[in-house]
Amino acid sequence: MKKLSDCKEEIHSCSKCGLCQSVCPIYEITGNDCTVSRGHFIMLKGLIKGDLKISKTINKYLDLCLKCGACSKFCPSGIDVVDIISLAKAEYFKSHKTEKLKSFILNIILKGLNTFNTLKPKSEQETSEKKVIYFGGCGGINNNAVKILNSMNIEVITPNFKCCGFPFFIRGDMNSFKEYMNNFYKVLESYPDYDIVSNCATCEKTLKSYKKWGGKEVKVKNIFAYIRENNLKLELKKREKITFHKPCNLDNFEDVKWVIENTENLDYIEMKEYDKCCGVSGFTNFKEHKIMSKLFNNKHKNIIETGAKIVLTSCLACKLTLSMFSLGKYKVQDFMDFLGKNIK
Ligand code: SF4
Ligand code: SF4
Repeated sequence: MKKLSDCKEEIHSCSKCGLCQSVCPIYEITGNDCTVSRGHFIMLKGLIKGDLKISKTINKYLDLCLKCGACSKFCPSGIDVVDIISLAKAEYFKSHKTEKLKSFILNIILKGLNTFNTLKPKSEQETSEKKVIYFGGCGGINNNAVKILNSMNIEVITPNFKCCGFPFFIRGDMNSFKEYMNNFYKVLESYPDYDIVSNCATCEKTLKSYKKWGGKEVKVKNIFAYIRENNLKLELKKREKITFHKPCNLDNFEDVKWVIENTENLDYIEMKEYDKCCGVSGFTNFKEHKIMSKLFNNKHKNIIETGAKIVLTSCLACKLTLSMFSLGKYKVQDFMDFLGKNIK
């Protein structure tokens, strides 16, 4: 697997233009160059050269990065910041026992979640010619997503996949990431020729990234793209007002918009900064709670301003983060759960 030193050229291609500062949610709060890509790359150059050693201070700045990728979309040099920061985290991970302990605990939690989730029932539609595999990751099988796919006369196969490995990747625990990636391919061996559909933007993006990390190409589609392709037009039982938080890892917002526009009785109010990171990867960064609270408060304020009492999203981690800070003022739901429960 790639190492930080393999990204030397990419890191060197940073022109120090500072455009990343204009979109980074953390820099907006701190105003500190060490907390944005440009500053990160100066530190990482020093690490690769051997002028600096990976330290708690460097790790603090790596942890402040939300891995939202907003800066990469703007970067004229096209640098993939999330990959580079994760590889730098891997350097810290190797030599720090507390990081390994945190990963160990996370592994237990996610494996436990997965065992619980396999108890859910499978697709009811078992006579259709069209079949897809559903990948639910650590969120397990979403019965409402299955219901929507079934309504398009699609049979849904629900193998026992585990987490996609993303939570380990961004923590720099590359061995656990690889373990989850290999588990995915092992499960897939029994279902070689089907399309894979995922309800979670982060799972989808991670599965697509496997090839880059030594795996084979994964043909995975977001459920919104699948609904659009099949021209599925839905109708709610009664009028509902919603807003939508776009997960950073969602690359096909136009498909989400298509579903919104083609669902009757659905009033969509766009929230200010609807595509700004919810701060999920800073959620457990208790040492930086002041910075993180500002981030969460801004999102909370933007949601309240829409007047919508329902916030929809399509990433399990975003859903959990937004729910934690809703303070009972609005309900946060997965889009498919919302549709599954409210369609005629
Ligand atoms: S936008 Fe890209 S090239 Fe410009 S300073 Fe940031 S990381 Fe470097
Ligand atoms: S990934 Fe997000 S939080 Fe990290 S430096 Fe880029 S914009 Fe800032």
